[in-house]
Amino acid sequence: MFEKIVETINNTGKVVGEKTKQGSEVVKANIKISSEERALNELYTEIGKTYYENNRENPCCDTMKELFEMADEKKAVISNLKQQLRAIKGVSVCGNCGAECPIENDFCGKCGAKIEKPEPPVETPEEEVIDHEDTVEINEEINIEVVDDAKTDDAE
Ligand SMILES: [Zn+2]
Repeated sequence: MFEKIVETINNTGKVVGEKTKQGSEVVKANIKISSEERALNELYTEIGKTYYENNRENPCCDTMKELFEMADEKKAVISNLKQQLRAIKGVSVCGNCGAECPIENDFCGKCGAKIEKPEPPVETPEEEVIDHEDTVEINEEINIEVVDDAKTDDAE
């Protein structure tokens, strides 16, 4: 009777030990899988970014066109938020070297380039931060070159 109990305890111990070993192998495998999945996602991001940058002007299909436009919107929103942040911090960014300088400075403290004063941040996220005159010029060029796409461009 007593021996039987000891045997049962030993067997239980063996099973628990195996389960612990199996458990740690499961954990290890899961860690490896997550790590590889993260690396794959980073690759996807890189592929997507490269594709976006190389094909922004010529999306291969309507789905891509929509995704590109969503990315454009996000970029504009981020750019606007960064401009707001600079306004809060009271700095402007040097167009030459990208250094942040006190807003009252006319010249960059790092490279000495003249600093263009930023326009006040735009309230609505839909508004582009980039110069509107440039945008109009680009649109006109597209309208002249590709007459069929003129309506699509206007709808944007
Ligand atoms: Zn500079």
